[in-house]
This record gives sequence, C-alpha cells and structure tokens, in this order.
Amino acid sequence: MSRFLKEKLKSLETYTPGEQPQDKKYIKLNTNESPYPPSEAVINALTRSEIEDLRLYCDPECKKLKSAFAELYGVSEECLFFSNGSDDILNFVFWAFGQDGAAYNDITYGFYSVFAELHSIKPTVVPLKNDFTVDINAFLGQNKLIVIANPNAPTGIAVSPAEIEKIIASNRKNIVVVDEAYIDFGAESCIGLTEKYDNLLCVGTFSKSRSMAGARLGFAVGNKELINDLDRLKYSTNPYNVNRLTQIAGLAAVKDNRYYTDNCKKIMDTRDFVTSRLRGMGFTVLDSKANFIFAKSDKISGSELYKKLKEKDVLVRHFESERISDFNRITIGSREEMEIFLAKLNEILGE
Ligand SMILES: *Cc1c(COP(=O)(O)O)cnc(C)c1O
Repeated sequence: MSRFLKEKLKSLETYTPGEQPQDKKYIKLNTNESPYPPSEAVINALTRSEIEDLRLYCDPECKKLKSAFAELYGVSEECLFFSNGSDDILNFVFWAFGQDGAAYNDITYGFYSVFAELHSIKPTVVPLKNDFTVDINAFLGQNKLIVIANPNAPTGIAVSPAEIEKIIASNRKNIVVVDEAYIDFGAESCIGLTEKYDNLLCVGTFSKSRSMAGARLGFAVGNKELINDLDRLKYSTNPYNVNRLTQIAGLAAVKDNRYYTDNCKKIMDTRDFVTSRLRGMGFTVLDSKANFIFAKSDKISGSELYKKLKEKDVLVRHFESERISDFNRITIGSREEMEIFLAKLNEILGE
C-alpha cells in the first residue's frame, strides 16, 4: 500500500476470488463455472474480421444484444442494462441506491459487504435461519436497499418469487435487488415481477449457465427509470464496459439458447446424482437449485477435506466463516469430473 491511498480504502476488506490456478492440472470445482464450452455458434461468431474490428470502439448501448435478449425474455429493451459482469452492476446498485443503508444475509455472496463498505453504506446483516433458508420476515419493512441472491450462494437454496414479492411490497421506498446468477439451474426468476414493481431490479450473468465467465457479461432487468439510473453511472464511468467480442459472443449465445438450457439440464441431473451419492456416504447436503452443492461430513472437517481434495488435484471452495466452516461448496462439473471427484472422496474417507 502506498502512502498516497485514501485512508478509507486502506482499511477496506477486499473480495477474495476463488483460486484460478494457471497450470491447468486441477479438476476445477471451486468457482461455479460451466464444465461445457460456449456453443459452436459463439465460437463461429468470433471471426477474424470481428477481431480486426477491435480497433473500433464498441456499441455503448449494446443494441443488437439488447434486441435479441429482449425478445428471448419477453421484456422491453428500455428495461434492460448490460455491463462488464454482474459484479459491475452490483457495484452500481450499492453506489446508486444505498443511501438509506443496505440489508443482506450473513451467509451470501461475499461481494455485498465489500460494496457496502466501499460506498460507506450502513449494513444490516440478516442471519439465515438455522436450516440456512432465508428469513423472509426479517426483511419485511427494512426500508433500505435489499440484496438477495436467489438461489443463494454458497448454500444453493432458492426462494419462490411469491416470498420475494412480500419483501418487495413491504419495502416500497427502496429497491430490492434479486441476484439471479444461478437462476437457470431450477429456480424461478423474479423478472416477471419487474412490470408490477418499480422497486425491483433483477440481476443476471452469462458467467454460469452460459459458459462465458471469462467474457464478463452481466445484465439487469427493471423498470425503465431504474435502468436510466444505471446508465447514468455507466456513462459517468465507462460507457464501453461491454467489449466488442463479448457483445458478439453474447448475441450468439442468446440466439442459441437451446444449447444452454440443455447444458443446464445436464448439470441439474449431475447435481442430483452427486447429491444422492454424497448423502449415501453420510454427508449433509443442502437442497440446491444452483450449479453447485454445499456439503459437510461428520467424518472430516471442512478445511481438512478441502486440503485433501486439493492434494488429489480436485479444487473445491471452502469458507472460513464461523457458521459454514464445516462445509465445502462443490461446483457441478461434467459427469466424468464428478465421478473422479467421488472416487477421490472415497479414497480420502477410507484413509
Ligand atoms: C458468480 C456470481 C456473480 C458474479 O457474476 P459475474 O457476472 O461473473 O460478475 C454475482 N452474484 C453471485 C451470487 C455469483 O455467484
């Protein structure tokens, strides 16, 4: 740290991303990426001539992508916002809408507390219930920015739009942000409620279900005034925050939606297979509607299991925080990867 940095930033606790080892020898089940590559249509769309066009700035409005996406989701274009990953949008959200404070769960996506601190927003940390489900009643009438990951991470547990609607309806002076990064793996989206409530913003990403984590493409759906607010921040920081190649890849992915819904089905099947195998081995596995599971065993501590798996070239994600340190979050890879994971797990438990 230099002596020039603002005092406030010196003490900021930054987000810790999952490991991204560059030697490529791991079965990588630690950051919820897709085991499947982008569709052939995406690969073919990234032509030599598109690459040559990198000399030109990209379309700040992402018009082609927006129009295809609006059609697929049945929403109007003015209700859509694209950004450089959904983390970028979450940053804007805390920055723009956090003036009365922000409420989010104690066990949830780690970035919310970082953004709250970054933007000097008073946090209200709402504990999950003992069974790790969201305590809907605790969010009612908070009258501050509310951010809920649905399905939640790292638990994988989902809530219904009807439950979330209670929160939205009781919090009309501020917005409710539903972070739907994992919505395509079996939970129900709240996008349909954005027409009814001007204080709802749904945020999504191409990083998980659309195999594009490295391309950085996030989106938000909400009432057009809210989208306008997000545009104000975008045009005050970086209007070109979705690069040319990502816009092209994103457009091709949207047009080839079937490929991705098929992949999601495969991942859900594999998830259910791994869940039942782990339960058969005595693990506690939370009911997941995401592309990962959250599991613990009485036979081995969470950190020990993480370490032993890593020694066997399988990476999972372990969090040190108190309520969940017994658990590991395991991304659902391909069926073959998960068979290897289960075999290594058996070796470890047999040692
Ligand atoms: C992965 C993830 C994101 C970030 O997605 P990007 O679009 O890659 O920035 C946001 N929210 C949750 C809950 C996530 O797990």
